[in-house]
Amino acid sequence: MTPARRSTPPAKSRAALLALRPHFDRNRLPDPETYFTAELAALQGHGTWRDAVCPFHQDTRPSLRVNTQTGAFRCMVCGAHGGDVLAFQMQRYKQPFPAAAKALGAMTGDRHV
Ligand SMILES: [Zn+2]
Repeated sequence: MTPARRSTPPAKSRAALLALRPHFDRNRLPDPETYFTAELAALQGHGTWRDAVCPFHQDTRPSLRVNTQTGAFRCMVCGAHGGDVLAFQMQRYKQPFPAAAKALGAMTGDRHV
Protein backbone atom coordinates (compact mmCIF):
# COMPACT_ATOMS: atom_id res chain seq x y z
CA MET A 1 0.00 0.00 0.00
CA THR A 2 1.51 3.27 -1.06
CA PRO A 3 0.65 6.59 0.50
CA ALA A 4 -1.61 8.68 -1.66
CA ARG A 5 0.20 11.59 -3.10
CA ARG A 6 -1.68 14.50 -4.44
CA SER A 7 0.15 17.21 -6.29
CA THR A 8 -1.31 20.67 -6.46
CA PRO A 9 -1.89 21.93 -9.97
CA PRO A 10 0.93 24.28 -10.97
CA ALA A 11 -1.18 26.51 -13.16
CA LYS A 12 -2.73 29.54 -11.55
CA SER A 13 -6.44 29.31 -11.34
CA ARG A 14 -8.62 31.84 -13.07
CA ALA A 15 -9.74 33.17 -9.70
CA ALA A 16 -6.15 33.74 -8.62
CA LEU A 17 -5.42 35.66 -11.77
CA LEU A 18 -8.51 37.80 -11.35
CA ALA A 19 -7.50 38.56 -7.77
CA LEU A 20 -4.32 40.13 -9.07
CA ARG A 21 -6.23 42.68 -11.10
CA PRO A 22 -6.87 45.93 -9.27
CA HIS A 23 -10.25 45.98 -7.66
CA PHE A 24 -11.98 47.89 -4.92
CA ASP A 25 -11.86 46.54 -1.38
CA ARG A 26 -14.08 48.51 0.98
CA ASN A 27 -12.34 46.99 3.99
CA ARG A 28 -9.22 48.90 3.05
CA LEU A 29 -10.83 52.31 3.36
CA PRO A 30 -9.18 54.35 6.11
CA ASP A 31 -10.77 54.78 9.49
CA PRO A 32 -13.17 57.75 9.12
CA GLU A 33 -11.96 59.54 12.24
CA THR A 34 -8.32 59.28 11.15
CA TYR A 35 -9.16 60.34 7.62
CA PHE A 36 -11.30 63.34 8.55
CA THR A 37 -8.80 64.50 11.15
CA ALA A 38 -6.10 64.53 8.47
CA GLU A 39 -8.34 66.16 5.85
CA LEU A 40 -10.14 68.70 7.98
CA ALA A 41 -7.60 69.59 10.64
CA ALA A 42 -9.58 70.09 13.81
CA LEU A 43 -12.71 68.09 14.42
CA GLN A 44 -14.80 69.73 17.07
CA GLY A 45 -17.11 68.18 19.55
CA HIS A 46 -17.38 64.71 20.97
CA GLY A 47 -19.17 61.54 20.09
CA THR A 48 -19.86 59.99 16.74
CA TRP A 49 -20.77 63.16 14.86
CA ARG A 50 -18.15 65.93 14.87
CA ASP A 51 -18.06 69.43 13.43
CA ALA A 52 -15.49 70.78 11.02
CA VAL A 53 -14.98 73.73 8.73
CA CYS A 54 -16.56 72.76 5.40
CA PRO A 55 -14.12 72.48 2.49
CA PHE A 56 -16.94 72.59 -0.07
CA HIS A 57 -17.82 76.24 0.38
CA GLN A 58 -16.26 79.35 1.87
CA ASP A 59 -16.87 78.37 5.43
CA THR A 60 -16.00 80.58 8.37
CA ARG A 61 -17.21 78.36 11.15
CA PRO A 62 -17.72 74.63 11.42
CA SER A 63 -20.75 73.82 9.29
CA LEU A 64 -19.80 70.33 8.21
CA ARG A 65 -20.96 67.37 10.25
CA VAL A 66 -18.92 64.21 9.87
CA ASN A 67 -19.62 60.76 11.23
CA THR A 68 -16.46 59.25 12.66
CA GLN A 69 -17.91 55.75 12.53
CA THR A 70 -19.37 55.50 9.03
CA GLY A 71 -17.60 58.35 7.25
CA ALA A 72 -20.89 59.98 6.33
CA PHE A 73 -20.85 63.77 6.08
CA ARG A 74 -23.27 66.61 5.56
CA CYS A 75 -22.86 70.36 5.40
CA MET A 76 -25.63 72.36 6.99
CA VAL A 77 -24.91 75.36 4.78
CA CYS A 78 -24.01 74.24 1.26
CA GLY A 79 -25.65 70.83 1.38
CA ALA A 80 -22.60 68.79 0.41
CA HIS A 81 -23.10 65.27 1.63
CA GLY A 82 -22.10 61.67 1.17
CA GLY A 83 -22.14 58.31 2.83
CA ASP A 84 -18.50 57.48 3.38
CA VAL A 85 -14.90 58.67 3.13
CA LEU A 86 -14.78 57.54 -0.49
CA ALA A 87 -17.62 59.90 -1.40
CA PHE A 88 -15.83 62.68 0.46
CA GLN A 89 -12.59 62.03 -1.40
CA MET A 90 -14.36 61.99 -4.77
CA GLN A 91 -16.16 65.26 -4.13
CA ARG A 92 -13.33 67.15 -2.53
CA TYR A 93 -10.73 66.25 -5.14
CA LYS A 94 -13.13 65.78 -8.03
CA GLN A 95 -11.79 62.30 -8.57
CA PRO A 96 -13.63 59.52 -10.34
CA PHE A 97 -14.28 56.40 -8.30
CA PRO A 98 -11.12 54.44 -9.26
CA ALA A 99 -8.78 57.36 -8.57
CA ALA A 100 -10.41 58.10 -5.23
CA ALA A 101 -10.31 54.44 -4.20
CA LYS A 102 -6.66 54.26 -5.15
CA ALA A 103 -5.82 57.47 -3.31
CA LEU A 104 -7.37 55.97 -0.18
CA GLY A 105 -5.44 52.74 -0.55
CA ALA A 106 -8.60 50.73 -1.14
CA MET A 107 -7.56 49.15 -4.41
CA THR A 108 -6.15 45.65 -4.11
CA GLY A 109 -3.95 43.84 -6.57
CA ASP A 110 -2.20 47.04 -7.56
CA ARG A 111 1.44 46.55 -6.75
CA HIS A 112 2.33 50.15 -7.48
CA VAL A 113 0.39 51.64 -4.62
ZN1 LIG B 1 -20.43 73.46 2.98
